[in-house]
Amino acid sequence: MFTLSTAITIALGLGLSSTEVSAHRGCGGHEVAKRNPGGPVINSLAELRGFSKRQTTSTMDEASEAAISDPNQECTAYSYQPVVDVKSQFPTIWETASLVDGDTEASALFATINQTLNAKFPNATPKGTKAGDWSASASYNATDPDCWWTYKQCTTPAASLNIAADKTTVPEPETWGLAFDDGPNCSHNAFYDYLQNNGQKATMFYIGSNVLDWPLQAQRGHVDGHELCIHTWSHQYMTGMSNEEAFAELYYTQKAIKTVTGLTPTCWRPPFGDVDNRIRVIASGLNLTNYVWSDDSEDWRAFAAGSTVTEDDVTKNYQNVIAGVANGTYATHGPIVLTHEINNGTMQEFVSQYDSIKAAFKYIVPLASAFNITQPYAETNETYPDFMTYTNQSTSSSSSSSSTTSASGSNASGSSGSTTAASASKASGSTASDSKNSAASVSFGYSGVFASVALFIAGGAMLA
Ligand SMILES: [Zn+2]
Repeated sequence: MFTLSTAITIALGLGLSSTEVSAHRGCGGHEVAKRNPGGPVINSLAELRGFSKRQTTSTMDEASEAAISDPNQECTAYSYQPVVDVKSQFPTIWETASLVDGDTEASALFATINQTLNAKFPNATPKGTKAGDWSASASYNATDPDCWWTYKQCTTPAASLNIAADKTTVPEPETWGLAFDDGPNCSHNAFYDYLQNNGQKATMFYIGSNVLDWPLQAQRGHVDGHELCIHTWSHQYMTGMSNEEAFAELYYTQKAIKTVTGLTPTCWRPPFGDVDNRIRVIASGLNLTNYVWSDDSEDWRAFAAGSTVTEDDVTKNYQNVIAGVANGTYATHGPIVLTHEINNGTMQEFVSQYDSIKAAFKYIVPLASAFNITQPYAETNETYPDFMTYTNQSTSSSSSSSSTTSASGSNASGSSGSTTAASASKASGSTASDSKNSAASVSFGYSGVFASVALFIAGGAMLA
């Protein structure tokens, strides 16, 4: 099996150019691949558009998909009929979203929000470009009237505007607000198994294009009891978009998650943290609360080809947050840490840090529970455990390797998933319930995926 560093060396050895796109200096954002690592190589936009013309696999339900342990098989593209049936009602995946022709419902809602926007910000224009080129905003007013996060990490709009502030920390002391961005990653089974075996739920900020691409993986996020939130349709800089584009990026991701899971999220996170008052008003019009973060693990950066950020740097970033408990930083609140399920490296890094986080923090909780949001979706029949309920349950379940205890109610697929995780752990000589160093030795068996990552990078460069 390749070690992580070996795999990266191989990728670089192929002479691939760096695909890391640095975010605006100092903004702590992150870049995302246009296709999940391990997925099929996409060589052209035409191939991207033809995502429904793929092979159909025999795995056509969530439980079966969740039981797959071979990452290459997990990332074998499939056609899921409920998605194929509604594909024409959505924008093209991985392209900037806009209102779909004939979508009167979306158009009517946008018209209402746009009226508010025009009243509040009559002269507002997009900042820079969707790719994060801010040169056109070089003359932006230094007083930061738009509360533009990317400019100076502003999270609290002027009170007179009556716009909700972004959430950057959780209100509970010595509590780690756990969230992962950029999923659903097609190869996430071993990682989700690991969370499940530890009775650990998280908030998952899903990309709409990934949800339609990997609907069964998105369903697993809900089945496992994670909180599902929105991370836009095409993962670009939101302040570089028109009102309509920004609306559509959120609206169609919300609709994609609703289509696939039956749930309408009420939370979102802007890619790269890039948000300003105009975008906040659009999100608010869709009933979305904005969660940014207090600390960036930089995991997204370390595992990108050509990156100067190392795995050790990411570990140090984690350790710095963990050290905050001992020095009193979290006496009255807890951090929200930017972490990802974007690739094996970022998932593995969290696993290697999990025992340290657990030892230092009193609780590790999904954001809904941290904020006592018991109805995180528009559907009022779907509930989520409040902080007290979640922490009581996770305390009892985390001491056992059994995953039958679920904060939001597990189902049959849980057992198949945990079986997969147990065998993965066994292969590396440890069990999920081992204390301390066990996490670091859990093997995900991703050697095959790295080859695909390298191939993807080659394909991705052609799309740029
Ligand atoms: Zn992201």
